[in-house]
Amino acid sequence: MPTSVQRSPLLRTLVRTGLDLIFPRDCVVTGEPVEEDSPCRYLSRKGLEQVFFVKEPCCPTCGFPFFGELLASRVCPHCRELEPAFGRGRPLFLARDAGRVLVHELKYHRGRYLLPDIATLAAGSSGFCQHLAGAVLVPVPLYPRRERQRGYNQSRWLAEVFAGVAGDFEQTPGERCQVADLLTRIRDTPSQTNFDRAQREVNMRGAFGLKPGSRPDVSRRHVLVDDVFTTGATLNACARVLRRAGVERLDVATLAHG
Ligand SMILES: [Zn+2]
Repeated sequence: MPTSVQRSPLLRTLVRTGLDLIFPRDCVVTGEPVEEDSPCRYLSRKGLEQVFFVKEPCCPTCGFPFFGELLASRVCPHCRELEPAFGRGRPLFLARDAGRVLVHELKYHRGRYLLPDIATLAAGSSGFCQHLAGAVLVPVPLYPRRERQRGYNQSRWLAEVFAGVAGDFEQTPGERCQVADLLTRIRDTPSQTNFDRAQREVNMRGAFGLKPGSRPDVSRRHVLVDDVFTTGATLNACARVLRRAGVERLDVATLAHG
C-alpha cells in the first residue's frame, strides 16, 4: 500500500528537500555536491559534461559515432567482423569517463538510485527515444542464480526506464513501447571481461532460449536491451533466439558502448 509520502507530490518534495539538507547529494562522477539547477539528482553539471552522448552520424549496427577518420571511411572497427542477427543498434552514450562510472555503479553497486537520472538523459536524446518508440523491449536476461545473487537484472531496469521515456515519442496508436521478458539464460556463462571477440562468440553459443510459455508478437518491432554493447556477441546470441521465433523487425539498444 502506498504511504502518504508516495501519494503526495508536495510531501515528497518536502521530504526530499529535507533529506538533501541533511545528506547533500554528491555527483557520482566528480564527487562534488550536485547544484540545485542540475537536471539530474546525482550528476552535477560538470559530471554531465563528461557524458559522451552518441549522436548521428554513427555506425548503423552498433551505434558507435563516426568522427574524424571513421567518418571518411564509414567502417566501424567494432562491427567489422560481426554478422549481426539484428538491424540497427543504438547506445545512449559511450562507456568512457562519466559513462563508465554510470554503468559500473548500475551494474555492481545496486545503482537503482541512478535510474531517474538515466531517464532524464534518455529523454533528452531524441534519436535514442525515437529508436525505442513503439517497440517491444526485451531485456537480456541473467542466469537465474546470478540474478538471485545480485538481486536484480540491470538490463530489465533499463528496459523499464526506456519504455517510460519512449512513450512521448510514439505516433502509431496501439504500438506502445512495453517490456516483455521473452528470453531466459539457459547456461551460466563465465564473465567475458577478458575474452576477445572469438571467445565471446563461443562463450555465448546456446546460452539463451525463449522463456517457457512466452511467444513474441511477431507483427511488432522488438528491441533487445542490454547495459553495454561491447562486441555484440551477447546481443547477437539473444537476437538469434528471437529470429528463430519469427521476429522479423529486431533492433538493439544499450545504455553504453565500449
Ligand atoms: Zn559498429
